[in-house]
Amino acid sequence: MSTRTAVITGASAGIGEAAARALAGSGFHVVLGARRLDRLRPLAEELSGTAHLLDVTDAESVESFVQQIPECHVLVNNAGGARGLERVEEAGEDNWRWMWQTNVLGTLRVTKALLPKLIASGDGHVITVTSIAGHEVYDGGAGYTSAKHAQSALHQTLRSEHLGDPLRLTEVIPGMVETDFSLNRFEGDTERAAQVYQGLQPLTAEDVADVIAFAATRPPHVNLDQITVKPRAQHHGSRVHRE
Ligand code: NAP
Repeated sequence: MSTRTAVITGASAGIGEAAARALAGSGFHVVLGARRLDRLRPLAEELSGTAHLLDVTDAESVESFVQQIPECHVLVNNAGGARGLERVEEAGEDNWRWMWQTNVLGTLRVTKALLPKLIASGDGHVITVTSIAGHEVYDGGAGYTSAKHAQSALHQTLRSEHLGDPLRLTEVIPGMVETDFSLNRFEGDTERAAQVYQGLQPLTAEDVADVIAFAATRPPHVNLDQITVKPRAQHHGSRVHRE
């Protein structure tokens, strides 16, 4: 069988970087996209893949990214994240706009642009990294939970719209993962970010990447629809056991 190509958005850090390593380790040719090319290039070199500038919030950037990809079997919609933790009465529109632009419209833009190539591959697979925040709500989280709910709804709709096409769709739904996620959410406040993971063992980016690679390496007739993965010490977004 010829080498299959996996495109990973937000591959410059965290879950995306780990997914790129895991998929390359499973035999995929990896195509990496993110805004920080200085981080993508050495990773692409190490994995014998390719790196391209990608800002999922910019339609032109998505277009030029996709034009550089001759074929695509697997798309991992991973670029995203959270900004802020304000109650609705305090909500800032800039944070909301960032979260909706990146998680929701970003996933829409990249998926829409790559769908023809995914289907033409004869065995396409869209893997979208949403979150347990896409399936529950918590105080202060409305900007992020609403964006992740919308991203999940978009993904699930595609599963139905493309029934009958050679296209698989897997939603990976992580709980707490220790990456730069909280640091970015709290604008570089390291102390506040560290508190999120205090007293429990969170998932690592590699734990989630294992799940992504597992889903991507099932036979073509097997569709893992939704996979939720959490640390043992976490039940809900805000219900965790801390030592
Ligand atoms: P991270 O370490 O902050 O990584 C985020 C990635 O997204 C980076 O590679 C970043 O790359 C990329 N990104 C951000 N904005 C982008 C844009 N406009 N265009 C292209 N790429 C962009 O966070 P992470 O934890 O790995 O998050 C990855 C995904 O997992 C996100 O969708 C997040 O919502 C989801 N998730 C995370 C957790 C968690 O607890 N960590 C839990 C559930 C779900 P550049 O900055 O280089 O562009």
